[in-house]
Amino acid sequence: MTPAGGDPADWRRQLNGGVNSGAEAAARFGGDAAALAAAERAFPVRINSYYASLIRDGANDPLGRQVIPSALELSGADGTADPLGEEADSPVPHLVHRYPDRVLFLVSYQCAVYCRFCTRKRAVGRTAAPTDDELKRGVEYIRSRPEIRDVIVSGGDPFLLADERLSRILGWLREIPHVEILRVDTRVPCVLPSRVTDELCRALAARHPLFVNTHFNHPREVTPEARAACERLVDHGIPVGNQTVLLRGVNDDPAVVKALMQKLLAMRVRPYYLYQCDPVAGADHFRTGVDAGLRIMAALRGHTSGMAVPTYVIDAPGGGGKVPLLPEGVVEISDDRVVVRNHEGRRFTYTQAPAATLLK
Ligand SMILES: *Cc1c(COP(=O)(O)O)cnc(C)c1O
Ligand code: SF4
Repeated sequence: MTPAGGDPADWRRQLNGGVNSGAEAAARFGGDAAALAAAERAFPVRINSYYASLIRDGANDPLGRQVIPSALELSGADGTADPLGEEADSPVPHLVHRYPDRVLFLVSYQCAVYCRFCTRKRAVGRTAAPTDDELKRGVEYIRSRPEIRDVIVSGGDPFLLADERLSRILGWLREIPHVEILRVDTRVPCVLPSRVTDELCRALAARHPLFVNTHFNHPREVTPEARAACERLVDHGIPVGNQTVLLRGVNDDPAVVKALMQKLLAMRVRPYYLYQCDPVAGADHFRTGVDAGLRIMAALRGHTSGMAVPTYVIDAPGGGGKVPLLPEGVVEISDDRVVVRNHEGRRFTYTQAPAATLLK
């Protein structure tokens, strides 16, 4: 077992300490104070004291780059406010219903850090906390749709809610008979691990089957504290997965992603998705070519544990949903044979079942 979680007061102290404005970011990490203040007006700044302590080299650091505001956020012309078209798929406030059997339920708009590449910048850090009455409208929507069997509680970061509030919301969802599984998306185990207390884990475990998906982007984020937080969740029977965003200057390097995926598995966190960076306004400087992602995938498959290999996806702009991308494994396909290429680039032929057999 991992050591018991700390005093709940610790995480609130860390959350509110640290860097909370463009001017403070410029003073601590360098950069033009006026430009960083302008970036803050477009998207708030929060680098809690725990995460700030991991940053070694200001905005050049792969951790710093994720959270320190930059003048580059003001120049991007390509992005949009809502790249995934979530507003159009929102039947009631705080809920996104795109796929037939599952919904995203946005229960908090606060985070433990504000990631400069965040896809939900339009709402995160500025939308007022949903009230219980507003959330109950979402719960009623889910109750009225028997096809919804999976609710992804997201935000913002649900782990920034008090234990009792998160537990209450999960309890409302749990009472709906057709909701089979609950998922909670949170970056907290990575960016504010002291928040993952035993009390929180017990509140989550009371709502099983419940899965947590967290968000690590770089191997240096896998600290002893983050490891303890993930292991504490797993020790409470909560499977933990991870979603990584492919980011220029942070992790657009096969060796970095491979090291991260291996470290995640070593703390029992299963890599789930690797996301192509969405074209969100103010984040162009984070975007890589899709070829970079395909190269990373080619460096993983066959070269390390299959369990360490996430699914690389583009979230299709305008609400098309997630589309998986793979380096080409099929060289040729016909009715009688398939030629495939393996991780070493060698070709192999698989003979198809005779057509006569397939007809039976
Ligand atoms: C990503 C996403 C989901 C969950 O997709 P999975 O592939 O099941 O993890 C659900 N709804 C929306 C709107 C999403 O963007
Ligand atoms: S923690 Fe998630 S929701 Fe919050 S700013 Fe970062 S990417 Fe956005």
